[in-house]
Amino acid sequence: MQLVAVSKGVSVERMNAALAAGIDTFGENRVQEADAKMTAVAGASWHLVGHLQSNKARRAVELFDVIHSVDSIDLARRLATAASGHRDGRALPIYVQVNVDGDSNKSGFAPEALPSALATFADAAALELRGLMTVGRLVDRPEAARPTFRALRELSEALRSQNLRLGPGLSMGMSDDFEVAVEEGATVVRVGRALFGDRPPA
Ligand SMILES: *Cc1c(COP(=O)(O)O)cnc(C)c1O
Repeated sequence: MQLVAVSKGVSVERMNAALAAGIDTFGENRVQEADAKMTAVAGASWHLVGHLQSNKARRAVELFDVIHSVDSIDLARRLATAASGHRDGRALPIYVQVNVDGDSNKSGFAPEALPSALATFADAAALELRGLMTVGRLVDRPEAARPTFRALRELSEALRSQNLRLGPGLSMGMSDDFEVAVEEGATVVRVGRALFGDRPPA
């Protein structure tokens, strides 16, 4: 199980303190913010967890080790093109974001759109499809997030049984619900506030 420490809004001083304490993987949700921090936080691994605009795909490939938020075919294509030129032949690890609950405020593929979407990714050798990612619903108690996480795991199992080129990774669970996500099979949790405290309002 991997912990991505989500450090959006967190200063480089506090990130370096976390690094010294043994946290080595940070998650950011904006390319620009990560870009500004990276040289000051040396030796960490960087994951993009937030929505990525297609026109920033190239820069994101240069900066990040893993992208959790691939939410359109257009973005996947751009990432594949950028990755094939920029990573010395190493595939770029990605997670495909799924809007499990059909929430109109969230990005991600509809579950029923995944088989054909994954088929179009299949020939993109520059991408390593590590698994699926989702952002749980805003709920008042962690238990209420369970159906979303369970649905993502079942979706992953169903897709992989169809021999689509998809790894077993499940990126799910945040500060308020990561325990439930782990119980439902998360391989990666993305935790911000539970590590760094509340963020100042955006
Ligand atoms: C901010 C964010 C997180 C972390 O949220 P917390 O509630 O601070 O744990 C995880 N995933 C994504 C996509 C985020 O934007």
